[in-house]
Amino acid sequence: MPKLNVQDLNVAGRRVLVRVDFNVPLDGEGRITDESRILASLPTIDWLLERGARVVLCSHLGRPKGKADPAMSLRPVAKRLSDLLARPVAFLDECVGEKVEKTVAIMKDGDCLLLENVRFHAAEEKNDPVFAKKLAAYAEFFVNDAFGSAHRAHASTEGVTHFVQKSAAGFLLQKELRYLGDELAHPARPFVAILGGAKVSDKIAVIESLLHKADALLIGGAMAYTFLRAQKIPTGDSLVEEDRLETSRRVLDLAAKMNKRIFLPVDHVVARRVVTDRLDKKGKKIVEFQDVQTTAVAAIDGGLCGVDIGPNTVRAYAAVVAEAKTVFWNGPMGIFENTAFAKGTFDMAQAVAASGARSIVGGGDSVKAVNKSGLAGKITFLSTGGGASLEFLEGKTLPGVAALHER
Ligand code: AMP
Repeated sequence: MPKLNVQDLNVAGRRVLVRVDFNVPLDGEGRITDESRILASLPTIDWLLERGARVVLCSHLGRPKGKADPAMSLRPVAKRLSDLLARPVAFLDECVGEKVEKTVAIMKDGDCLLLENVRFHAAEEKNDPVFAKKLAAYAEFFVNDAFGSAHRAHASTEGVTHFVQKSAAGFLLQKELRYLGDELAHPARPFVAILGGAKVSDKIAVIESLLHKADALLIGGAMAYTFLRAQKIPTGDSLVEEDRLETSRRVLDLAAKMNKRIFLPVDHVVARRVVTDRLDKKGKKIVEFQDVQTTAVAAIDGGLCGVDIGPNTVRAYAAVVAEAKTVFWNGPMGIFENTAFAKGTFDMAQAVAASGARSIVGGGDSVKAVNKSGLAGKITFLSTGGGASLEFLEGKTLPGVAALHER
C-alpha cells in the first residue's frame, strides 16, 4: 500500500512533528564539519513552513547512550538551520517535559522549533511508548524525513506514529525510497553494482540481493580478500573473515549459475602493517603502513596486506562502469581515509561520474569519498542512509517507513 506523503497533508495552522536526520559530524568545538544532512532536510521543512505549519523538529546526534552529553547537543544545528532557512529556529535543551509543552503551546503558524537530541533519553532507542506518546503530544501530524534512521524502530521513528492523527513521508524519505527502490528494481541496463568496505559479513545479504538485480558486480575493499581466499588465492596478512569463506564460495557459485559476472581485484596496493607503541588521541596504538608497493598479480605475499585496489583493477572496473547505464555503489575500494590508499576509490568515483549512467551512491564512506573527490554534482543520487540503504536493498522492511499511515 502506498504511504501517505507530506504533500497529502493539509498542514496550515497544524503542529507537525518532523523526525529529521541531523546526525551531523561535529569537530571538538561544536562546529559542523559536513552539513549535507541538514541541506537534505530543507525541502520538507521549507514546504511545511511556507504553508503555515508549526514545525517541531526532532533528531538524534551521535551515540550518547541515553544520557545528556553537551558534546552531542543539537544546538549548533539550530543555528546553522536558521541561517539556511533565513528565519529563526528556536532551540530547547530538552525534547520532552514542561518547557517543551509551554513552548509548543505558544507557537504560531510558520514557527520552527528544534528539540534537543532524542537519544539523551534511553527510552528513545527502547521505543518506549510512554516517551513516544509524549513526543507525539506536541503535534497533530508526524512527518518522517530521517531515512538514515528508518531501519530502527525507535520512539521518534516508529513509536510516535501510533499517537498522531496522521503520519507521512517527507520529501527526502520519498526520494530515497524512489531511487533505492523503484530505480534499482527497474534499472536501465547494463546495471553494474560496485561494492567495497571492510566486511563481507556486513554486506553479504546486499550482495545476494544485488546479484538478482545487477548484470555485473565489482568487488573492492577488504571484503575482496575474503572472496580471493575463498578461491584459494593467497592474501597475505589482509583482512579476511575466515568464517565467511564458505558463504563467499556459495555467492561465487550462485553468480556462475545465474550467469552474472563478479569481478575481483587482479592487482593491489599492499603494505606492511606495523602497530607502533605510540598512542593516538583516543589512547589507541597508532598503526603505520610501511613498504608500500603495487603487486602485479592477485596473490599477496605473507607479511603484506592489501590496502587498495591496484591500477589494472581500476582499469578493468572502469571499463565495465563505462558500459553501464545504471550504477549502484557502496563502500570504499581501500583504506581511503589514508590519502596514500585513496586512489582506487577516487578513480572509481571518477569512472562513475564519467560514465553518464544513472548513478546511486549508497551512504556512509562512499558518499564521503564522492564528496571529497569533488564529483558529487555528477552523481545522480547520493543516499543519506548508510545502514538504512543497505537494509532496504536487502529487501528488509524499514520500521520507520512501515509504520507510516497508508494513503
Ligand atoms: P564499510 O563501512 O563497510 O563501507 O567499510 C568502510 C571501511 O572499510 C573504511 O573505514 C575503510 O578504511 C575500510 N577498508 C576498505 N578497504 C580496506 C582494506 N583493504 N583493509 C582494511 N580496511 C579497509
